[in-house]
Amino acid sequence: MPEGDSVHHAARRVHDALAGRVLERAELRVPRFASIDLRGRTIESARARGKHLLVVLSPDSLGRDPVTLHVHLKMEGRVRIHPSGERWHFPAHTARLVLAADGVEVVGTELGLLRALDPAEAERAVGHLGPDLLGADWDPAEAVRRLVGRPRRTIGEALLDQRNLAGIGTVYRAEVCFLRGVDPRDPVEAVEDPTALADLARRLLSANVSRAVRVTTGDTRPGRRLWVYGREGKSCLRCGTPIERFRLGGGAGAADPDEPTDSLDRVAFRCPSCQPSRATLGDLNGQIEPPSEEHS
Ligand SMILES: [Zn+2]
Repeated sequence: MPEGDSVHHAARRVHDALAGRVLERAELRVPRFASIDLRGRTIESARARGKHLLVVLSPDSLGRDPVTLHVHLKMEGRVRIHPSGERWHFPAHTARLVLAADGVEVVGTELGLLRALDPAEAERAVGHLGPDLLGADWDPAEAVRRLVGRPRRTIGEALLDQRNLAGIGTVYRAEVCFLRGVDPRDPVEAVEDPTALADLARRLLSANVSRAVRVTTGDTRPGRRLWVYGREGKSCLRCGTPIERFRLGGGAGAADPDEPTDSLDRVAFRCPSCQPSRATLGDLNGQIEPPSEEHS
């Protein structure tokens, strides 16, 4: 599932494949932009902002304004790069974006969002995002300030809200909360060290940005790569307790139409032993030993 790490990785791959090259083929297979002709423009850059991908195209030879392609991979979106003319190994009807230059073809399949914007519009489209966990301009103090801004909201919802910090999806939400011993349903105000939570999220995403498979446990064997995400009913890798799965909202919801949401976006996990609820423990809080963090 695309989260900040995979989108940053995709941006780097697109940039390396196409930056500085002149588009020979450009198809936006969405009704609103199907007729736009982008051939002849130079791809200036591709970059990620949280879970959004921006591909910046130069003005064309007729002097028409620069264009930024704004892409969101949502749940199933993928960016594929291969030599031009190579047979596609995926259903053609899933292709939404096709860009080709100098013998290289980039195809975006099952994209959650694709539009062609002028650069100022594109900046506005990502302007609501909080500090990018993988950005060069990562600002932990600002991210934490936003995260704790609504103290009664659950920490799980706050972590998914891209206006607080950008890049976390349901996988990292589950893994970060596990590693910090936090029940994702607890209110933000019950989290002892939100700075450590944000810092851990940045380290986990950074460690995975150029990996083929996402690993948070340090163990690359199938079924052991993640602590709790997707492991409902299975034994906790640390203590053996069965992992719980439940639904927990997140994202910016209706306040942000550009942030695609999906029912699958709301799945959450925890180990009841390693992540006891601080909200219900009340006065017992101080007597609970926090889980060890040898693997973090
Ligand atoms: Zn456990």
